[in-house]
Amino acid sequence: MPGRVRTAIIGGGMAGCAAARELVKAGREVVLFEAADGLGGRARSWHRPEIEPDVGINLMYVSFYRLMSEQIREYGLEDQLMKISSTVYISDHGKPVGLSSDSPASLLSYRHVPLRDRIAFLINTLREVSRRKHFDLFDPLRSAPHDDGTTATAYGHSRMSKRAFDYLLRPQIEGFWNFACEDIASVHARALLAWMGGSNFYVLRNGMETLAERNAEGADLRLSHEVTDIRSEGGKIHITASDADGQPVTEIVDDLVVATPAPIAAKLTASLGPDIVNGQTRKFLETQEYEPALSVTYLVDAGSLPSEAHIVAGGPEDPPLRNMITYPRQVRDEHGRPKDKLLVFAYPGRANTRRLLGRPTEEQFAAVTPLLKTLWPDFPADPEPFHIAERPYGFPIPAPGRYRMSAELTRRQAPPVTFAGDYFNSPTTEAAMLSGVRAAASLRGVSPS
Ligand SMILES: Cc1cc2nc3c(=O)[nH]c(=O)nc-3n(C[C@H](O)[C@H](O)[C@H](O)COP(=O)(O)OP(=O)(O)OC[C@H]3O[C@@H](n4cnc5c(N)ncnc54)[C@H](O)[C@@H]3O)c2cc1C
Repeated sequence: MPGRVRTAIIGGGMAGCAAARELVKAGREVVLFEAADGLGGRARSWHRPEIEPDVGINLMYVSFYRLMSEQIREYGLEDQLMKISSTVYISDHGKPVGLSSDSPASLLSYRHVPLRDRIAFLINTLREVSRRKHFDLFDPLRSAPHDDGTTATAYGHSRMSKRAFDYLLRPQIEGFWNFACEDIASVHARALLAWMGGSNFYVLRNGMETLAERNAEGADLRLSHEVTDIRSEGGKIHITASDADGQPVTEIVDDLVVATPAPIAAKLTASLGPDIVNGQTRKFLETQEYEPALSVTYLVDAGSLPSEAHIVAGGPEDPPLRNMITYPRQVRDEHGRPKDKLLVFAYPGRANTRRLLGRPTEEQFAAVTPLLKTLWPDFPADPEPFHIAERPYGFPIPAPGRYRMSAELTRRQAPPVTFAGDYFNSPTTEAAMLSGVRAAASLRGVSPS
């Protein structure tokens, strides 16, 4: 009797773990290599015992994430969902004004943009909402036909006043992802407009990695194993990784899903021939650019800022500080009594992020602390520096034309090596998971639907 098919997955982020779930369900023996000491990748929270709940960088799940909604129901995780506010405060040179994504009334009272421009924006949004089924923030097969080579900025300028674009649409895109609207495909903006209105936002109580961990159940996990080499020999794939002690280990498998960020995937598969990774795929991987992310966290007294607020810089410039998100937490005072605090995540703009990445923590806090008032003028004078997290591959940039390339690749992926990651569409956990499901299906010879 032939043995079970043995499949490796490299990368235990949302994409790799979603692929693991599909392949385990299909009866395969799955070995998952993850360089970090836990699953979740960029969606993995940090945890600190001084705060309650102890979670930091808790990614948002939005009610129109279809796959994730299904899995939350299937795993019975509904009681872990914590609803958060959908209000974004958009700041014009230090003057923040609230805008709720589920309230046209809030748009009509939004002071940064003249009334006639707000009405034009609302009409345009309703038009995109009515065409919702044509747009998708997660699925390249649906986005590709609308990826006409134009940028989000060109789209915005053709549909609304410059002021409305810079203070209504641009901050909602750049405040989530930090890339410039000049660099991304118009269809990304259209999909966001079509789906964002009326959505609810949640976090999972113990962090988004909860889902990655559930999805990877049944796979043979090799945590703290950084893959360093992949070769094809005698019809098998040989994978070499460096284990937690820096010792090389080699596994031989029948086939493979590579679910790392694109530049790492390109490097790891460099020695595979064009019969395994064709020129088009290689180009897709090698040309993917990323906007890095630097998350600088402070503790401040509750009440000094709105809670669960997303505060974003408006305007066309790359601001010194791009956005802040606040979450309620409790800390114990010196007598062990609980005290209400806010955990504030601050994200510098593009130039500052690049300048500060990899610098010593004290230097990063010293550079960001004076910028906090640029978004919220009444920011408390004595924030307590708390935690810093860096994501060098923060947000893959969905440049014009990439959705078309991605759709073509999605249709043509084939064994023995397939690829997965959020770079197949938008930088969201949902897009990452869909790419993982698709990469697993392609490995089994099933066409994407
Ligand atoms: C600051 C920030 C905030 C975000 N907020 C949200 C949000 O609120 N909501 C949302 O939906 N999305 C959000 N995102 C986007 C989301 O995090 C990503 O789209 C998603 O997590 C990407 O998953 P992935 O599996 O494609 O990649 P990754 O998460 O990058 O997973 C790749 C994995 O591969 C591993 N790896 C790399 N090299 C190797 C190697 N050589 N050997 C073994 N393993 C390796 C990495 O350690 C990693 O675990 C945010 C992203 C950032 C940076």
